[in-house]
Amino acid sequence: MTFARGGDDTTGNPFPAGPAAVLNGSHPICAVLFDLDGVIVFTDRYHYLGWKRLADENGWAFDEALNHRLRGIPRMASLAVILDHNGVSISKPERQELAARKNSYYRELLKTVSHGDLYPGAVPFLEALRRRGAKLGLCSSSRNAWTVLDTLDLARFFDVVITGHDFERPKPDPQIFLLAAERLAVPPGGCIVFEDAFSGVQAALAAGMRCVGVGSPETLTNAAQTVTAYEAIDVDALLGCGQVAAQAP
Ligand code: CA
Repeated sequence: MTFARGGDDTTGNPFPAGPAAVLNGSHPICAVLFDLDGVIVFTDRYHYLGWKRLADENGWAFDEALNHRLRGIPRMASLAVILDHNGVSISKPERQELAARKNSYYRELLKTVSHGDLYPGAVPFLEALRRRGAKLGLCSSSRNAWTVLDTLDLARFFDVVITGHDFERPKPDPQIFLLAAERLAVPPGGCIVFEDAFSGVQAALAAGMRCVGVGSPETLTNAAQTVTAYEAIDVDALLGCGQVAAQAP
């Protein structure tokens, strides 16, 4: 199953194998897959505020350092980290109720997401990729991803959108990325993933895809290459051989 793309005037083969691709024998990149939180938009502070409100109501300790440990982790697992940190033991139904309450706080806060929450340079980068004819996929574990996409008018960039509603096995399982590749009709070897979480990089590698870590190499030790600024990426090198910068001759 593929998704039609609207409003694109590219014709012919937009993915010629560049010299680097010929030289090193790697596939050119046809599809670029993006995580959402921490890669295109920063919703960390809304998650933080949602958990903080829940923690305050229950008299639990919760701070930025603990919040950092929740990055890329699903909601129930995040709650378990907070409960462990506070030495709290409660039943599964109680945990489910608390996680649902946090999500309702978060969804309320998300309505105030603004263009100021976008990763700097992300939108021009998406525009540049589309101009080159790359297929773009959005791969977020969040069940609230559409709220962010709609509020910030980002869905127009993507040929396929996979959210937490569409798959079962969370990252580091590769299911989310393999599903996107299948829907884009691009083999995993022709995909490259932008991810800011260790577990997300693991998922991309397990899918047989190349991956660019968005963040520091000290944190994303499993990523072969990392970036912190989209402006620094050589789009031709990326689509030609999967490298964020042109290789020295
Ligand atoms: Ca992320």
